[in-house]
Amino acid sequence: MGDCIFCKIAQGEIPAATLWEDEEFRVILDLGPASKGHALILPKKHAANIYEMTDEMVGKAMILAKKMAAAMSKALHCDGFNIVQNNGETAGQTVFHFHIHLIPRYEGDNVGLSWVPGSLDEKERDEILEQVKACL
Ligand code: 5GP
Ligand code: ZN
Repeated sequence: MGDCIFCKIAQGEIPAATLWEDEEFRVILDLGPASKGHALILPKKHAANIYEMTDEMVGKAMILAKKMAAAMSKALHCDGFNIVQNNGETAGQTVFHFHIHLIPRYEGDNVGLSWVPGSLDEKERDEILEQVKACL
């Protein structure tokens, strides 16, 4: 993926503030942080989104997210923590190389990750159950 910015960062071709690195991942500080300490987990091997990742790599990424969230919470004394992963433009993905957002949360930080709750009617509920189960 010659023109993928996160490939270049993950593989160390472009320098980035690195919190953690191993053979398969690099964890960097986000250049446009939602809160103090906002970081990104990047796999070194390109995958555009979660569907292009192997199950094994998704598992490893989530285990690393837990480790980072615990360490960052301890170090930064945040009050809560969001682990966010966007797939597709409609879902807010802007860089098409899989990444997990690690977002420390602080009382009154005004980070906008909330939504207005809708309602679940019975007909729609049953349709969703049928449609999704048919694809599993
Ligand atoms: P997405 O919207 O795709 O889920 O998240 C992309 C994230 O990458 C954003 O939070 C954005 O600030 C961050 N970002 C984009 N380009 C760069 C970059 O070159 N370096 C770093 N460290 N973060 C970046
Ligand atoms: Zn890439």
